[in-house]
Amino acid sequence: MATRRGNGLGTTPVRVKRSGRRDTWGVRTPLHVDPKTGEQVRYWIGRDYETKTAAAEALAAWLTKYKEDPESVSRAPGGRAATALPGAGGAAPGKVSLLKVEKLLTDPDLTMGELLDRWLKRHRGEGTTKAGYEPKMRLHIKPYIGSGKVVEMTDELLNGLYQRLESEPCPTNRGKPLGPKSVLHIHNIISAALETVTGPRRLLSFNPAHYAHPPTERQVTAAEPDKPTLTDDETKRFLADVWTPCGNSRCDGGLTHHCLRDAALWTAYAASGCRRSEVLGWKWDLINWDEGSITLAWVVVEEGKTFRLRKLTKDGEKDAVIYVDPALMDVLRWQWERQQHEKQVLGNLWVDHGLVFARDSFKLFKESRAGGPQDPEKVSARWRTQRGRLHLPDEFGVSGWRRTKITNDLENKENPVEVSANARHRSGPGFTMKKYGQRRSDNAKRLASSSAHRIGLGEVGPTTRRSSAGVVPSGPRSLPIPTA
Ligand SMILES: [Zn+2]
Repeated sequence: MATRRGNGLGTTPVRVKRSGRRDTWGVRTPLHVDPKTGEQVRYWIGRDYETKTAAAEALAAWLTKYKEDPESVSRAPGGRAATALPGAGGAAPGKVSLLKVEKLLTDPDLTMGELLDRWLKRHRGEGTTKAGYEPKMRLHIKPYIGSGKVVEMTDELLNGLYQRLESEPCPTNRGKPLGPKSVLHIHNIISAALETVTGPRRLLSFNPAHYAHPPTERQVTAAEPDKPTLTDDETKRFLADVWTPCGNSRCDGGLTHHCLRDAALWTAYAASGCRRSEVLGWKWDLINWDEGSITLAWVVVEEGKTFRLRKLTKDGEKDAVIYVDPALMDVLRWQWERQQHEKQVLGNLWVDHGLVFARDSFKLFKESRAGGPQDPEKVSARWRTQRGRLHLPDEFGVSGWRRTKITNDLENKENPVEVSANARHRSGPGFTMKKYGQRRSDNAKRLASSSAHRIGLGEVGPTTRRSSAGVVPSGPRSLPIPTA
């Protein structure tokens, strides 16, 4: 009888760790129907064989006996309790059907290290995603279980690995053990790799990672450092501050003076909860003034040392639409007027891209043109200056506005479905979205309005806004709007 045969049913002999004496070998029956109970069962034939060959021979003997007289190997009733496997079933009670022993598709001696390498090589994903897997495999998985055979992986072995990683100091993590988030990621890698060798005619009949206990999502969230957010009152004070014109002799109340250069931009972040890249990609013709909505179709992203304006959505995907309060629309109208002035002053130095927050004339180099996308890194740098001036926490970046809006919306019991939709969380309450899809527009408008009210958006705005109103941007999607 062959001693190294794998059959895809986990009936390869496995080493049983023993303390104080030599390890032994154990072997289980294949999944089979017990003729006495009609249930699919599987049990240990023995766990105390001195050699792998002895264990394999015991399995061969069991198979012969089973073929001759299935009842003779039945463990029920009495004897050792047979264990039904989860998800077993299919064969009619009383009918004997020993699962067919077929040739395996994978080498039974495959090690975890080899499996991981193969999995990563075949993984379809962006280069950056794959690049994130490699060090985790090399540093945290392979040193521990890389040489172990895939067929010998158990949930307990994986639990042991997770516990070790979470408790032992790790030199690559500044001497601290790994956090739950990293360990969960490692678990996901192992699970995905094992999944590729699970199934009929594969090495494993079930994936041991499915029975392991990695850190829970809750533990992961609890371990994340709290990043600062502002309260609604703090936001209100912030807005009042950025909309205060400098008041010096050359100041016209901020409409053309550079003191209010970024006021509309910061307000857009605070009131919309959009990402840095998204607000920089807002376009005039994607604003629906009548409906109070903005279609997000473009983003300004950093690429290496440069940046570019690119489509936000992939081909065939629907553009995301967010709803904003009329007060923010007023701010955008003001921004439009400001931009008209810029264009007039710059003449052919302005190359229009239709952007709301385009590169303006401030400190424009001789050879450069305005009107195109802004450098996101420069926006962040200006934000840091602004932040310092207003004594906001150092950890509060441009993205802090997004965090602040979502947190405060939820704290104020706004509809989580709308909050999630407006934030465009892909993992948001999808089912609820489908069910309440019809009411999305109304609810979203209510959310925009309620949250704008809480931060006093209607009260802010440049002093010149009302007096200079009357000019409204035109565009294919904009409709005549009553002046403010
Ligand atoms: Zn000024």
